[in-house]
Amino acid sequence: MPHTLDPALRRALAERVRYYNELGIYDFYQRGPAVQESAVGTAAGIAPLLALSTALQSETREEMAARKSAVVAPVADESIFEAHTPKPEYSVTDPVTALKIIREDLGECTRCKLHEQGRKQIVFGVGNPRAELMFVGEGPGADEDAQGEPFVGRAGQLLNNMIKAMGLQREDVYIANVVKCRPPGNRTPEPDECDTCSPFLMRQIAAIKPKVVVALGATAAKNLLAMNSSLGDLRGRFYDFKPAGVRSNDPAWPGARLAVTYHPAYLLRDPRQKGEAWKDLQMVMKYLGLKASSGAPK
Ligand code: SF4
Repeated sequence: MPHTLDPALRRALAERVRYYNELGIYDFYQRGPAVQESAVGTAAGIAPLLALSTALQSETREEMAARKSAVVAPVADESIFEAHTPKPEYSVTDPVTALKIIREDLGECTRCKLHEQGRKQIVFGVGNPRAELMFVGEGPGADEDAQGEPFVGRAGQLLNNMIKAMGLQREDVYIANVVKCRPPGNRTPEPDECDTCSPFLMRQIAAIKPKVVVALGATAAKNLLAMNSSLGDLRGRFYDFKPAGVRSNDPAWPGARLAVTYHPAYLLRDPRQKGEAWKDLQMVMKYLGLKASSGAPK
């Protein structure tokens, strides 16, 4: 049955949808019949939000077209349980363009408190937009913050050695982090910061479509897998991985595997674990058909 919305309610819902889009959230889910009522939409549950989300597509398209050269594709084949406002990059198949759109959408981001805690710049990600292999770390450190590139300090050198040992070059892979701004004092990013920033990482992964994602350390593993197990429990196997926000049965998503290993910074503190990390990388190499260029990374 079509939903007839009171104009004031429609305006309130439109503001809510735009607010979520500004946060990088484009997906709205109806988990079941018992929809929790909220101040906006109390009378009709989430259904008007889903309907309005779709109705706002054309407005969003016009806004995005003014800001970007890309055209937003319409949503197709939505299930009754899952509705997605199309992300602006969905209409392009070229990952280079898609990543540019995501970067533009991120802008000079102030979505979480890390923007005002001493960051010099946003560290978006680096590497081959068509990479088969992607590494995801926790967040930028001092060197990364200064240079605007992930994994360029001592941990970055070790990651480079790990990549070379796998028979690849740094330029062959794509490297990003869960959060894109340096947490002060290199502290672990807090859950709200990860939750706010990670939708952009998910969109990067969806654009690049790597065959394998390697989560470096517990923060990356827990955020990508939405699991709260220890790193030791998460290592040693592949997970079927689909970035949050990619639709179920999306034909554009070819599927990916995710492996978990130690963060290079941890390996610098405890080099005895390098052998274990090498085992994780060898599992990835076997799957990708890579030949080691030398022995375990030093
Ligand atoms: S960490 Fe991410 S969400 Fe937070 S301000 Fe930086 S770019 Fe924005």
